[in-house]
Amino acid sequence: MADLDPHCPLCKLEKLTTWYHEEPSFVILDCDVCWVPMGVMRKHGNCEDDPDYTRMLNKLMEIADQTLGKGNWWIDPIQRSVPGHTHAHARHKGWW
Ligand SMILES: [Zn+2]
Ligand SMILES: [Zn+2]
Repeated sequence: MADLDPHCPLCKLEKLTTWYHEEPSFVILDCDVCWVPMGVMRKHGNCEDDPDYTRMLNKLMEIADQTLGKGNWWIDPIQRSVPGHTHAHARHKGWW
């Protein structure tokens, strides 16, 4: 793991939407499919055990409070669209 996959859209991660926060291990940006903030780990693979993943979630929560409003969202850690690359969405309440 930790390699980049040339076919994975989350490895390429083009700047098509708003990027709220960027650092070497993760990025918080607007998802161009769901239009809500999401956190994406920079490295390919499943890294839920990585301490940086916890930091990523904390940052995502901070940004979700600012953009969606406090208490209006929940963290969706399921990799629906891109399995195999760790990311999490902050979704509006009422989304299912
Ligand atoms: Zn999305
Ligand atoms: Zn990837």
